Amino acid sequence: MNVRDSEAVSALLEAAGYRHAATEDEADLVIVNSCSVREKAEDKALGKLGLLCATKRERPNRIIGLMGCMAQRLGEAVFRRVPKLDFAVGTRRNGAIPSLVKRVENGERNILEQSSPDEIPDAPEAHEDLGFSAFVTILLGCNRRCSYCIVPDVRGREYSRPAREIIAEISALAKHGVREVTLLGQSVMNYGRMNPVWFDDDPPSAGGFKEPFSRLLEAVSAVPGILRVRFTSGHPSGVTDELVRAMSSLPHICHHLHLPVQSGSDRILKSMRRGYTRAMYLEACNKLYTAMPDFVLTTDVIVGYPTETEAEFEETRSLMYEAKFGNAFIFKYSPRPGTPSAAMEDDVTDAEKCRRDEVLLEDQDRRGQALNEQLVGSIQQVLVEGRSLRNAARWSGRSDGNKIVVFEPTPAVREGTIVPVRIVRAAPQTLYGELV
Ligand code: SF4
Repeated sequence: MNVRDSEAVSALLEAAGYRHAATEDEADLVIVNSCSVREKAEDKALGKLGLLCATKRERPNRIIGLMGCMAQRLGEAVFRRVPKLDFAVGTRRNGAIPSLVKRVENGERNILEQSSPDEIPDAPEAHEDLGFSAFVTILLGCNRRCSYCIVPDVRGREYSRPAREIIAEISALAKHGVREVTLLGQSVMNYGRMNPVWFDDDPPSAGGFKEPFSRLLEAVSAVPGILRVRFTSGHPSGVTDELVRAMSSLPHICHHLHLPVQSGSDRILKSMRRGYTRAMYLEACNKLYTAMPDFVLTTDVIVGYPTETEAEFEETRSLMYEAKFGNAFIFKYSPRPGTPSAAMEDDVTDAEKCRRDEVLLEDQDRRGQALNEQLVGSIQQVLVEGRSLRNAARWSGRSDGNKIVVFEPTPAVREGTIVPVRIVRAAPQTLYGELV
């Protein structure tokens, strides 16, 4: 979400006449986009802002700004932490940034623009020329109240963008060569549940889809030029029969979903206020695997949530095997001020959190290796992204299931095309193959 927001602000500034500097040192304007989801992320942003503001001693006209969740969360307090910061702008006010920069150029300092939780954001559709893959925000904010999460406070209440606005944006991207779109939302399958997104004069669903998100997937998959559609992040309550039908029957919808589970213990899930049980989560996984045997699930997990016992941690471990995750992002619990779980004692020691983190990472490596080995000999459709980061003599791309595939180059291969690759070798995170 932050990558997408940064890109939109960059595009707005370019439209206002600013140009990208070649390096950060050369830049006369630097905006730090911040994340509040963990304490460490906020500490890093504050450290970075301190270093940037220190350069104002030699370059007093340099403009330093802050955007994103931390600006929204801290408000005026951010100027006490970073007195030389020129402006801070909340999560739904990014469209104001070019005018804020002008105000700073005219001599104003310490400008704060916070957004209210239910305002409709301005200009979310600005894009830079990104190549063949783009993020598209479809849903802002979150109405769930998971006990540990600061996101609903900083990103506001759920607002779904009108479908026709999203489709127009994606059509324009496709005309500029974009082939893959990733639809973004905190709880993306909630699309259209809180405000109307389809209107009487919109075309009806050809496949008879009634749920707003399935209907949107159908419309996006029909945009000429779009070859791949992904979306993130999911919640098990969104894995409805209709969504499974949409994903398995519509062209171009990738058979991959990032479905954060957070814990495998019913007691911890309840304390986290996640709104599902272990059995409900696994049922959602099974629905997807049954309809699409090649389906790839990835997830997020929190270790060391307050009061999590060893036995409850083991339940998370076993769930991760049952759910056959292709990849997993493991986070050590970090209390966020003002959230319900911050009132609980953070009683799992840091050393124990680190141990649980390492155990899950090792499990995931073994599981990733085993799952990837099952793909040796298969032919994967790979969207070519460019040269491999590790070995520039090879090409790299992603399979439909979002796995990285590295293969030997041939002159015919071009970035942004989909090519068939036979898998010959597997590593936990990467598949290696040859062009068919
Ligand atoms: S679903 Fe829960 S964890 Fe995700 S953004 Fe909303 S409150 Fe946070």
